[in-house]
Amino acid sequence: STPAAITSGIASGARRGLLIKGGAALEAIGSVKTVAFDKTGTLTQNKPQVTDVIHLQGTPEEALRLAAAVEAGSQHPLAKAIVEKAVEKAAEHTSKQPPPEATEARALSGKGVSARIDGVLHLVASPKHASTLTDLSAQQPQITALEQQGKTVVVLLRDTTPLALIAIRDEARSDAKAAIAELKNLGVQAVMLTGDNQRTGKAIAGNLGLEVQAELLPEDKLRIIRGLKDQGGIAMVGDGINDAPALAEATVGIAMGGGTDVALETADAALLRSQTRDVPALIQLSRRTMGNIR
Ligand code: ADP
Ligand code: MG
Repeated sequence: STPAAITSGIASGARRGLLIKGGAALEAIGSVKTVAFDKTGTLTQNKPQVTDVIHLQGTPEEALRLAAAVEAGSQHPLAKAIVEKAVEKAAEHTSKQPPPEATEARALSGKGVSARIDGVLHLVASPKHASTLTDLSAQQPQITALEQQGKTVVVLLRDTTPLALIAIRDEARSDAKAAIAELKNLGVQAVMLTGDNQRTGKAIAGNLGLEVQAELLPEDKLRIIRGLKDQGGIAMVGDGINDAPALAEATVGIAMGGGTDVALETADAALLRSQTRDVPALIQLSRRTMGNIR
């Protein structure tokens, strides 16, 4: 039998867009020691924009056209930003040139995308992956500087020749910094988990005031969550779309935004208003409710 306080706690959460799956979930949320955030879409807006195109050969417009052709079939947020920028540039230049045709496009998970253009293999990839194919030491200072600004850099390669560096920024959510500070006040540790590179991750996390673990593959995220779970409970906050395994693995899985059925299936709670500050609000609601029962 559910105590009346739990029912009323869940109802009062629901009125503010905090959907909680049940009494057990409500109780667990208040006692987690750590909250882990997926970076994209939870601490950032998930509206990545191309900020810099540094062409090493040809023109920036041409580099963008090639990169967009390689990325055309990719669903990755970085791919969408590149395609969007190429379309915007083409409109500005009222270019009548059709986009180059790419074939045999392949996603290299966590690394980039490759495709063939005019029979030549092209690649848009992380500097880390591109460095395994070509020498980027001449470009490293520029890459480092862009990453220290919190931007993600990808490299366009034609065969093994670097053609351009493209920097992409996803702005932090406006309330993310306040949310992290509130978690600290509640005595809860906050950490950001990301597949992005160390420097970009550190720059963003540093601004928001939380710890970061970067360059993680999906299986690394699961390993970290398991470890933190054993140390007294962890809430994992993600968008619920591509991080369902991490949400399921955590003591408490919290899905931000959308509020899809799929998200609530794996998650223990969903934040319908998509505000980072609803994470500490959820913890406070749990603690108040459980305090009323004890
Ligand atoms: P996360 O979702 O945690 O930010 P991903 O595993 O999706 O990280 O990607 C990690 C890195 O791999 C990206 O930061 C980027 O450097 C590279 N990458 C992945 N997919 C693409 C893509 N479609 N185009 C360019 N780079 C990509
Ligand atoms: Mg991803």
